[in-house]
Amino acid sequence: MGSEKNNTRIFHGVGASPGIVIGEARIADRSRVAVVEVPIDPAEVPSEIKRVRKALDETKAELKALKEEIAENKGLEHLYVIDTHLLILEDSMLIGETVQCIENEKINAEAALKKTLKKFKEFFEGIEDEYLRERSGDIETVVERVLRNMLGKRHEPFLESGGRVIIVAHDLSPADILQIDKNKVIGFVTELGGKTSHTAILSRSLEIPAVVGLEKILSELSNGDPVIIDGKNGVVIVNPDEQTFRDYLQNKQYYEYQERELLKLRDLPAETVDGYRISLKGNVEFVEEIPSIRKHGGEGVGLYRTEMLFINRNSLPDEEEQFRVYAEAARQMAPFPVTIRTLDVGGDKFIHDLNLDDELNPALGVRAIRLSLRQPGIFKSQLRAILRAGAFGKVRIFFPMISGVGEIREAKALLDEAKNELREACIPFDENIEIGIMIETPSAVIIADLLAREVDFFSVGTNDLIQYSLAIDRTNEHLSELYEPLHPAVLRSLKMISDAAHAADIDVCICGEMAGEPAYLPILLGLGYEELSMNAVSIPKVKKVLRRCSRGEAVTLAQQALTFSTAAEVESYLQSQITARYSESID
Ligand code: PEP
Ligand code: MG
Repeated sequence: MGSEKNNTRIFHGVGASPGIVIGEARIADRSRVAVVEVPIDPAEVPSEIKRVRKALDETKAELKALKEEIAENKGLEHLYVIDTHLLILEDSMLIGETVQCIENEKINAEAALKKTLKKFKEFFEGIEDEYLRERSGDIETVVERVLRNMLGKRHEPFLESGGRVIIVAHDLSPADILQIDKNKVIGFVTELGGKTSHTAILSRSLEIPAVVGLEKILSELSNGDPVIIDGKNGVVIVNPDEQTFRDYLQNKQYYEYQERELLKLRDLPAETVDGYRISLKGNVEFVEEIPSIRKHGGEGVGLYRTEMLFINRNSLPDEEEQFRVYAEAARQMAPFPVTIRTLDVGGDKFIHDLNLDDELNPALGVRAIRLSLRQPGIFKSQLRAILRAGAFGKVRIFFPMISGVGEIREAKALLDEAKNELREACIPFDENIEIGIMIETPSAVIIADLLAREVDFFSVGTNDLIQYSLAIDRTNEHLSELYEPLHPAVLRSLKMISDAAHAADIDVCICGEMAGEPAYLPILLGLGYEELSMNAVSIPKVKKVLRRCSRGEAVTLAQQALTFSTAAEVESYLQSQITARYSESID
């Protein structure tokens, strides 16, 4: 590596998930396999048919292995997409048409399969139902796998053998990340995305170091290049020279040492030096993440994003399936609460499994509670499942993207209906379930006093609150500079929300990414937040700062922070205070 000093290249992107990893680049190759049509001799027909069948069998074996890996690592609820693909492979029409094409047209197996795919696609394109139409994409994916097997080119870049691979891709979907095998893929780099895109959030929750928003990185890298990722600082180093390699190895060891030290805080109370206790909880997308909250000393789930249960499958989860998952979450987290958010799809979250219209502006479209209220059947089955889970542990429920009182009242009316249905069916549930809302739209901030009369708690979604207040798309890498959590508008909003909650004597929490940033802890504490929910690994980091803070000083600090005119001024004030008081605690 030392001799390659001049080849070392350093790139700066957005640090999406902390941790330092050193590995080999693997370009996520989504390009289509090129197929050339070749005429064959009639005598070659049987061997070409054999080739198709063999490739189909190999693909089946590959998918079954993938299914087992996912079942082991990610849980059963994510297997539907693989099952769909297996069903396509078993479809006798696919193989029948291909064989017929080889026999009748006397062409090579690859070309015959491509022709069959074209026929299928034409058929699907004519279907009116959008959901069914989209299944043609699944067939294309499956055929692509078969073609790759026929040509000896493996399809799945994430599961290559050898391990210590860093995936480099233009973009990765939450579904892609779900398929990552953490034993083999140790990090990823993408050209698109920002810190609060759901891909980034998911990578943090699965503890996979990642750098996103690195435009044109694909043109800078080749398969097999040695790469270092510093997921905290957003740095990617390609072809590191020996000194850089040694430095990062040392940084990696230091980072891992710090992690181990932080874990020692796990059982210490989350309280300030003047004895003020707050609650630190974890955000999850999957039940499988709950052990990590426990490991990091979290006292409950402050945000359970249920939408991951709905994506990546061809039918929606029914009440029973949801109930089993939510009840398992409640059981695993007991005696601490699990705060379950009703479905929040739309925006940058996947909606292809729900039959929704394309929208020009999905972030402002039929998202979250708006969708649930338009689909009361789906909504009520989720409400019943959550209510029933409440019989197995402490469960709270809350609604995303509320913009007015009317929505809460409608949602609560449906919740009452769901309760009545359960009562009539003599199914046990939590009669007194606490009800909350996400505060993440500017209108909700402005009428926080009115909203506070309707619910038991507020949970502030700073990711969206910043996006909507500052009119900055949270996923747009070109705007990440303008996405300012310390913007005076954001700080004033946080104060208004907290004041309204305290005046109404209801609980107030932050569950957006701001809550997990240790440097913001003093200001959030000073603004009156008594519960913070974050990705599990941040819990001990925030706790460490908290245990050095005094509540009184934090209140003064927050008051002072509110007097500045720009985020930069607030930031430099915070920095000076932090250096003076908490320097060792915040890295
Ligand atoms: C938020 O908006 O801050 C939030 C926690 O919800 P999500 O990131 O899922 O939109
Ligand atoms: Mg949100």
